[in-house]
Amino acid sequence: MVRHLPLAPLAPAAPLRRGDVPEAQWNDWRWQLGHMLTKVDELARVVDLSAAEREGLAASAALFRVGLTPYYASLMDPDHASCPIRLQAIPRALEADIRDEELRDPLGEDSHMPAPSIVHKYPDRVLFLVVDRCGIYCRHCNRRRLVGGDEPPTTADLDAGLAYIARTPRIRDVLLSGGDPLLLSTRRLDHLLGRLRAIPHVETIRIGTRLPVVCPMRIDDELVAALRKHHPLFINTHFNHIKELTPEARAGCERLVDAGIPVGNQTVLLRGINSSVRSLRALMRGLLRSRVRPYYLFQGDTVIGTDHLRTPVEAAMELYRGLRGWMNSMAVPMLVLDAPGGHGKVPLIPSYIESLDDERVIVRTYRGTRVEYPQPRDRDCTVPYDEIQFAGTPPDDDREGSAEAAGSS
Ligand code: SF4
Repeated sequence: MVRHLPLAPLAPAAPLRRGDVPEAQWNDWRWQLGHMLTKVDELARVVDLSAAEREGLAASAALFRVGLTPYYASLMDPDHASCPIRLQAIPRALEADIRDEELRDPLGEDSHMPAPSIVHKYPDRVLFLVVDRCGIYCRHCNRRRLVGGDEPPTTADLDAGLAYIARTPRIRDVLLSGGDPLLLSTRRLDHLLGRLRAIPHVETIRIGTRLPVVCPMRIDDELVAALRKHHPLFINTHFNHIKELTPEARAGCERLVDAGIPVGNQTVLLRGINSSVRSLRALMRGLLRSRVRPYYLFQGDTVIGTDHLRTPVEAAMELYRGLRGWMNSMAVPMLVLDAPGGHGKVPLIPSYIESLDDERVIVRTYRGTRVEYPQPRDRDCTVPYDEIQFAGTPPDDDREGSAEAAGSS
């Protein structure tokens, strides 16, 4: 008779599912971010991984890192690999199918960096990349070359970025991004915002963050109290699907709005994830109900390994037609394409104009009805009072961002 030696007990797996940990721990953003799911076995404890997901995860080391909070993982449909949460968070092998046209830096940011951590493309505003980590590593990320926590911006980098903003008076608006700026400690974020606010020509500050989506517990009282000191401050978040708009996520957004912080949303159009009129309408209406203003709907960028996630442009415009006119216009985001190479955002507006001359314009309404609009008789649009209102004010400095910034500083 074969005698088996008693097996050493397996080390208990870290708790990753709601209900495995006390509610207070689950609702602690530090616990969430300290327990991100990054490995196959961790994900396999939450969902029944498909062959394509397993293949993608095996290849992901060479692609783009994997990581998501236990909270976001709890939204995944365990049984259906077509779940929009799974498709955003778990790589598929298609990511390794890289086309020649795809770019590491599709928005041409690296060539518009006049100082560490600063991207200056447009005349009056800059991106300030203050952290390189995220609460999720989205499979569609256009900044995958930078995010992942390998080369975080140093204090010296941030100081140099602040110095650039301070010496460039045409910068009126600063967008904190990264990575996810809400991953900074509240104390550091407060300090950084205070230093930006001390620069007289910085009129508005924006924060781009996905934490309201993937870790809404981060929007706690301490954070909100710190943020509200730095008005006018705006938050742009990134919901892509109605499934993400949970009671917790809605409550996080509403806490920000209650503190006087307008919250806007940028959605990336993702093929097979949200590329239906039904899905987009539900998301946009849900956002507006949560007091979040849909802002941009992005045509997918040409970033490496994301061809399978992009929609044809004509399909994107057809989807837009399914929103405009059919819903409250405040729920309709602007559909834009970020021109590859850093040339800026281009609105993708399906034409509703059939013909136009000095006498009349023929338009097609959202329902397809043909309507004539008479042109006015007078055509001079000069505003005489501008001379009085803006007397002594120099015109805007509309030169391109960093390319000419040295001359303006
Ligand atoms: S949160 Fe934003 S920066 Fe981070 S991986 Fe997702 S898209 Fe990229």
